[in-house]
Amino acid sequence: MKRPSRVCGSCSACCRAMAVHELEKDAWQACKHLHSSGCGIYARRPASCRNFACQWLRGVLEVDGTVDSDLRPDACGVIFDYQPGTAFGDVYTAWEVEPGASARGHARDIIEGLAERFRVMIVSPDRGGEDGTFRRRFVGPGDGTRGSSGPSLPSES
Ligand code: SF4
Ligand code: SF4
Repeated sequence: MKRPSRVCGSCSACCRAMAVHELEKDAWQACKHLHSSGCGIYARRPASCRNFACQWLRGVLEVDGTVDSDLRPDACGVIFDYQPGTAFGDVYTAWEVEPGASARGHARDIIEGLAERFRVMIVSPDRGGEDGTFRRRFVGPGDGTRGSSGPSLPSES
């Protein structure tokens, strides 16, 4: 299957919703370097930012019959990541940009598809995300081993 070519474009979901330890930025706090035109320190952004590419950007999230841009994290409300070898095994992370987003629309569809074969950790902001604390819950197979070969999604099989 040919994967779509994707760019972040106007999405800044990870700059708003994910922690950046080099900047002491908590999750769900907008980065102080984020401007309307994008990252204000792009050329010297921290390694955490340089190294991160969500699963949508990597081109591995698809839902049949869905416009590609509707799956981008700023549109679907969830950032998907793949994390092998965590304390919980190899997991897909569904990181809510907004509280409750994982239960709605395309994000819910993606999670349901992933959970047929992989362990998915859904991370939600606690107390509205005001202090970076979070709740997590798991869906999918409990042993966490089925995703061990890497980030391939059900739609690719
Ligand atoms: S969430 Fe994904 S698509 Fe959006 S800015 Fe971050 S890496 Fe790019
Ligand atoms: S430093 Fe730039 S890329 Fe990193 S979180 Fe802030 S705005 Fe985003």
